[in-house]
Amino acid sequence: MTILDDLLQNNKSIKNIVILSGAGISAESGIRTFRDSNGLWEDHSIEEVATPEAFQKNPKLVHNFYNQRRKQLLSSEVDFNKAHQIITEIEDSNLYNIVVITQNVDDLHERSGTKNVIHMHGELLKTKCTSCNISSPIDSDLDTQSICSHCDEKGTLRPDIVWFGEMPYQLNEIETYLNSADLFLSIGTSGQVYPAAMFVSTTPSECIKLEINIEKTNISNQFDYSIQESSSKGMEILKNYLLPQK
Ligand SMILES: [Zn+2]
Repeated sequence: MTILDDLLQNNKSIKNIVILSGAGISAESGIRTFRDSNGLWEDHSIEEVATPEAFQKNPKLVHNFYNQRRKQLLSSEVDFNKAHQIITEIEDSNLYNIVVITQNVDDLHERSGTKNVIHMHGELLKTKCTSCNISSPIDSDLDTQSICSHCDEKGTLRPDIVWFGEMPYQLNEIETYLNSADLFLSIGTSGQVYPAAMFVSTTPSECIKLEINIEKTNISNQFDYSIQESSSKGMEILKNYLLPQK
C-alpha cells in the first residue's frame, strides 16, 4: 500500500476539495508564462509588461502584449487538456464540493466545463475600466483609445490582469474555502508566487494535502504527498482514488 492509498482510500470523509492550479497545467496546453522561461514571458520581462508602472509608462506595449496573448488563447492551437478534463469529471461526479482557485489567466478550466473557478490573478478575456472600475468580457484587441461600454470614457480600459504589486482577487472567499478543505490539491504550481504559496499552510491540520508538479517545489515538504508528474499524468493517478472505477 502506497502513502496515497493510505491517505485517500482509508479516508471516506473527504467532502470539500480545494484545487489550486498554476502555470504547469496551462503549459501542457501550449500556454507559456514567466515561469517557463526564467522570468521572461514571450521575450518580455515582468517589469516590461506585468506591473502597473509598466502600463503607465508604455500602455501601447502592454496592450499589444496582452492582445497577442488573448489571440493565442483564442486560436485553434490552444485547448484544454486531460488534467482540466479530469477536474471537470470530478466536479461533475457530484461526490464532492469542488472549487478551483487558479493563478492562470486563461479560460481553459471553464472551457473543459468546470463551473466553480476563482481567477485570483484576473482573466485575459476580461477588461477593467480604471474610471468606473467595472470588469467586462472581451475577445478582441484593446488599445489606448478603447471606449468603456459602461461609462463611455475613452482610454480607461486595461487588461483585467492582477499585475505584480497588485492585490489578488477574492482572497477572503479563498480563505473561507481553504479553512474548510478536506483535501487540498496543488497542481502545476511552483510554490514561488505569494500569497498562493501560503495556501497549503492555511488549510486545517487534518486536511489531506497533495501536490502534483513536474518537479519538487520549495514547499513540497508542506504536503502529505507529492506526485512528481505532469498535470495530466498526476490527475490520471489521482482520478483512480477519487472516482469510483467503472
Ligand atoms: Zn468605465
